[in-house]
Amino acid sequence: MTDRTQQVLDSMKHIIDPDLGKDIVTLNFIKDITITDAGKVAFTVELTTPACPVKEQFRTQCQQAVSALPWVTGVEVNLSAQTRRNPLQAKAPGLAKVGAIIAVSSCKGGVGKSTVAVNLAYSMAALGGSVGIFDADVYGPSLPTMVSPKQKELFQIENMIQPLQHEGVRLMSFGFVPSGNQGGAAIMRGPMVTQIINQLLTSTQWGELDYLIIDMPPGTGDIQLTLAQIIPITAALIVTTPQQLSFVDVVKGIQMFDKLNVPTIGVVENMSYFDCPDNGKRYRVFGEGARRQLVEQFGFKNTFELPIYPELSQSGDSGTPLVVRDQTHPASTSLKDIAELVVREVSILKHAGKSRPKVSYRPGDGLVLSFENGEEHLLHPATVRRNCRCALCVDEMTGEPRLRPEDVDDKVFPKAMQPMGNYAVAITWSDGHDSSIYPYDRLLALAAG
Ligand SMILES: [Zn+2]
Repeated sequence: MTDRTQQVLDSMKHIIDPDLGKDIVTLNFIKDITITDAGKVAFTVELTTPACPVKEQFRTQCQQAVSALPWVTGVEVNLSAQTRRNPLQAKAPGLAKVGAIIAVSSCKGGVGKSTVAVNLAYSMAALGGSVGIFDADVYGPSLPTMVSPKQKELFQIENMIQPLQHEGVRLMSFGFVPSGNQGGAAIMRGPMVTQIINQLLTSTQWGELDYLIIDMPPGTGDIQLTLAQIIPITAALIVTTPQQLSFVDVVKGIQMFDKLNVPTIGVVENMSYFDCPDNGKRYRVFGEGARRQLVEQFGFKNTFELPIYPELSQSGDSGTPLVVRDQTHPASTSLKDIAELVVREVSILKHAGKSRPKVSYRPGDGLVLSFENGEEHLLHPATVRRNCRCALCVDEMTGEPRLRPEDVDDKVFPKAMQPMGNYAVAITWSDGHDSSIYPYDRLLALAAG
């Protein structure tokens, strides 16, 4: 490496990727540096995702940093993204060029999961990614009513079905398949359903996509589990509503994806509240959801409240998603936030791998919280046990502790530990207590005293 190339790199070492927490030089984002004799510098910043929310900021920062070198007479910054270069090891040829697969899931029907999935897909496309959406709900395919592409006939090229397209987003749904002798979805049993979904998903030629959104059938049963095993899902987003955000349901969803080692990157609480346009008051029509509990117990940073917007649910049958039709609608803004989150979290996952800390138990030392970079934190098991915030240990309504410090034996130790979601670990204790969930953040805080 020439002296000048090194200088160019060094000049950008202060530019930090806010999500990955490291500088872009260390992260190896800077590629193909060329320098002319006259001092003109050109290089590429290779981002982890084409929809990177801070890409323009990176460009400006790089431009400024390199221009500040005394011998530089001009700077050209190109931006590229590496999503397509790391295709998932898909079992299906049609998925080979898909960068990331995001499952949008709910434990029950009727929570507006499909509305969220479809509008999310279009919001992600608006951020600059190439996006497809697969409606895996065989019983009630909703994509054909929510989005109506001009070209409605499916056709095949070399035995592969081509997805339909609308406003730049690729679409596939069981509902687009002509219902000839299929016998109707209602009488299909589980194995048949998965077979049909699998067939449709794998025989669709998705082509090059940055993101494929899967609108999962509602529930956490065998169908969902099998599907999630067939499809190499990168991350899951759970949609729920306050009245159904019985905490238990969300936990079930997270657990299902955990079993498959798929991180749940966020929870969307749909129909959280209604802001009345007449009196400006906010009504929690379905009551207070378990959002706070999710944040407290699971350390979920990414929980979203999506208010009741009549236009959002009504747009369901207009053939064009609301986020496309009315970009300034508050629902569109909320969905853009969710889209940005998904893009960011997927990029972190792809870049950093599943770098959640590991929690282990070393008799003698105690609980060990260890990170990939070698960082370790030690915790006294009894302290951790005393800080359990489950419903048995803390009054959910008042936040008052139910567990007194003297209730916990100093010699208590963890019998089993299991990651829960992306941000927390579940612990079963030697005293029989088995409902403890600790966000890694809280363990870190406890370790810090
Ligand atoms: Zn507890």
